[in-house]
Amino acid sequence: MSDETTVREVLRQRVADFLAAHDPATTERLAFLRARYDAGLAWVFFPEGHGGLGLARDLQPEVDLLFARAGAPGNNVRGNGIGLGMAAPTILAFGTEEQKKRFLRPLWTGEEIWCQLFSEPGAGSDLAGLATRAVRDGDSWVVDGQKVWTSHAHNARFAILVARTNPDVPKHQGLTYFLCDMTDPGVEVRPLRQITGEAEFNEVFLTGVRIPDAHRLGAEGDGWRVANATLNNERVAIGGGSGTRSGGMIGVVSRTWREHPERRTPELHDRLVKLWVEAEVARVTGQRLRQKLRLGQPGPEGSAMKLTFARLNQQLSGLEVELLGEDGLRYSDWTMVRPDGVDFTGRDAGYRYLRAKGNSIEGGTSEILRNIVAERVLGLPPEHRVDKHVPWKELDK
Ligand SMILES: Cc1cc2nc3c(=O)[nH]c(=O)nc-3n(C[C@H](O)[C@H](O)[C@H](O)COP(=O)(O)OP(=O)(O)OC[C@H]3O[C@@H](n4cnc5c(N)ncnc54)[C@H](O)[C@@H]3O)c2cc1C
Repeated sequence: MSDETTVREVLRQRVADFLAAHDPATTERLAFLRARYDAGLAWVFFPEGHGGLGLARDLQPEVDLLFARAGAPGNNVRGNGIGLGMAAPTILAFGTEEQKKRFLRPLWTGEEIWCQLFSEPGAGSDLAGLATRAVRDGDSWVVDGQKVWTSHAHNARFAILVARTNPDVPKHQGLTYFLCDMTDPGVEVRPLRQITGEAEFNEVFLTGVRIPDAHRLGAEGDGWRVANATLNNERVAIGGGSGTRSGGMIGVVSRTWREHPERRTPELHDRLVKLWVEAEVARVTGQRLRQKLRLGQPGPEGSAMKLTFARLNQQLSGLEVELLGEDGLRYSDWTMVRPDGVDFTGRDAGYRYLRAKGNSIEGGTSEILRNIVAERVLGLPPEHRVDKHVPWKELDK
């Protein structure tokens, strides 16, 4: 028996023992989730003591499946994607022991939702140009500025935040990364209604917000490096999903195809089959990427996955609307709500079509991701950057 098979079997037994000791039917939800974290069965690829067992990342889907089959409660994966997919791996990589102890457990259990305060009205693709200032004052930092497109800021308890701490050095060097309490005085969240009719994201105004230095993540001035770890994780979180065969958007569109024989044409059939093959290639590539990741931090390769995910989601949702004919143009509910997550498979075709438009913008636009793949994966010449060595305060803004 190979080492890998043994590890899998030991892990399966561990899950079975845990379930025997914590019956999901009778254990209170939060008590169950906290116990699962403490047993190292939350994210098995995290270190022991922080919800994991220091195992390979590709063992996680099976653990999740075993828990789901046993009727175990979920930890709000849909509502806390930023926390689980981006904040957690960054805190793990750059946090102090106290920060890991304080933040990771309630993040994983879903008790504390996280959002991402990166983009600003004047800094999206060029994130390093951001203007939100953080000024040291004793044991705290005082933060002033405006962030925008902040998904789920309305229900987040904490945020990952990048701010400028030194305007006298070139833009990439003067940034610092913080963990910001969204309930602190001076944090104001205003909804931004988007094309779906909902306000999934917000603008966030920060006025004299005091962040303790103990909530700085990484060294002062090292914010760009820390932010890059978040962004690389974001692209894997959005584009490298653990999708099952014929799951996700391709599953939804295939079902629509089966349910509407009257709409079928040879041309639509060709398109569906071609997209099915592409979705399957993307799924298997995502699986390989996750195996490669194991315990390490993702690199620029995740950008290619996220690019493919965005293109496929847009083409598939477009095909579904065409398949449905006039029905595809119906939109069930355009009431302004502030949802707690994105729901691609549970909603109607109109929602999917409109929401998918954001896929090629959020987490880095497709143009920027192509630049990253060109420069950092394929080794092509970089874009010409005239502002790389100029102090930030001297740049045109
Ligand atoms: C649904 C959704 C959710 C989001 N959630 C969050 C969030 O939670 N937190 C957060 O911080 N941000 C969030 N964002 C913001 C997102 O990260 C930014 O919109 C994105 O990085 C682009 O920035 P921008 O909107 O300022 O566009 P710009 O950077 O102004 O880009 C405008 C256009 O110019 C192109 N462009 C810019 N520079 C280049 C270049 N060098 N080469 C080629 N083309 C270029 C872009 O590709 C784009 O087409 C979200 C966005 C969406 C759509």
